[in-house]
Amino acid sequence: MRAPVSPDPANGLAPDSAVLADLATEWKSAYVHVPFCRRRCPYCDFAIVDESAGGALDHGQYVEALLSEIAMESRFGPLDAVNFGGGTPSRLAPRYLVAVIEALGERFGMKDGAEMSLEVNPEDWSDEYGAALVAAGFTRISIGAQSFDSIVLEALGRLHDVGLIEAAISGARSVGIRSVGIDLIFGHPGETDESWERTIDRAMDVGVDHISTYSLTVEPGTELSRQVHSGAPAPDDDVQADRYQRFEEVSRDGGFVRYEISNHAKPGHVCRYNLATWAHGEYVAFGIGAHDHRWGLRGRNHRRPDRYLEAIAAGKRPRVGIENLTAPEQERDQLMVGLRLTAGAPLTPTAQRFVSSAAGERLIRAGILEVVEERVRVLKPMLTDTVAREALSVSLNDC
Ligand code: SF4
Repeated sequence: MRAPVSPDPANGLAPDSAVLADLATEWKSAYVHVPFCRRRCPYCDFAIVDESAGGALDHGQYVEALLSEIAMESRFGPLDAVNFGGGTPSRLAPRYLVAVIEALGERFGMKDGAEMSLEVNPEDWSDEYGAALVAAGFTRISIGAQSFDSIVLEALGRLHDVGLIEAAISGARSVGIRSVGIDLIFGHPGETDESWERTIDRAMDVGVDHISTYSLTVEPGTELSRQVHSGAPAPDDDVQADRYQRFEEVSRDGGFVRYEISNHAKPGHVCRYNLATWAHGEYVAFGIGAHDHRWGLRGRNHRRPDRYLEAIAAGKRPRVGIENLTAPEQERDQLMVGLRLTAGAPLTPTAQRFVSSAAGERLIRAGILEVVEERVRVLKPMLTDTVAREALSVSLNDC
């Protein structure tokens, strides 16, 4: 049984529509970081607690700290979207998720039909867990599938197999999660064109509403980085560009619309939290290493669990830094994130200075950038980082 579709007019808009991106700028969201992972994957540098390494942080203790932090946050909201990210949020028992949702609702209020999303690892899924998520109000899950090729899953150091991914997807359907998504990683040196093709084909057939695709990157300090420095093959940029392109072609034919460089949704299934983040909407954030953005302020929390817990125990926000942004700095940030959107970023004075600069004009002439209907858009998504670097160097001169 599927949950009823919200009558919200946003559901009738195409995922890549500029009108939807404009609406998202007004949405207010909350992010909750759940740091627990069964073990650290070799390519991952996120703020996590590796439970296989005896990461001594009790789930109940962490949730108590989250509740205290939520109570310390200034008034905000009501919320359009709540996202539990990680780490592995599905490590938390439903009663803990419910406690956090209730605290967010009491503190900020929830709009009718608010999106409630959770990242789930396939090895954590059971249909009982999924039913508890629906009862708790979750409207979407994102399953950390990564690949439908068991050799690639092993190379990525993942704990699940293809059968567990497929069980999680069909279970999520059967318990009535409204939007079911998967994450995929491409470009591991152990992946071939054929295996990526098989993964894409399976992703199209398996019946999901949303797919996020990420190229494998070698982050400093990770196990993968050490392996590459010891001579193991590194991901190849050209191969990754080809794999990205291939996914774009097949997913478009499969009915998915790319609304952000990495995010693709069937109509009516855009992830509001994602879209609001890239549209420069405001969000509060809680937990280890969490970043927030509201009222022209950007804050970030301690990454180390002990520092985070100490601050909470002392009755303080666990901040490691907070920036008060000027209006041009806010426009610069909006441009940086908005360039990732298919709909592009609004043509603010800062964006206008970029497109009128020598670098901007060169990118327009090269067919990489365009200005249309008061927005600036990147036409070649794989070049988004290059464009953003150019935009940053122009806009930094203005701040
Ligand atoms: S499960 Fe996700 S967050 Fe956890 S270590 Fe692996 S990649 Fe990182």
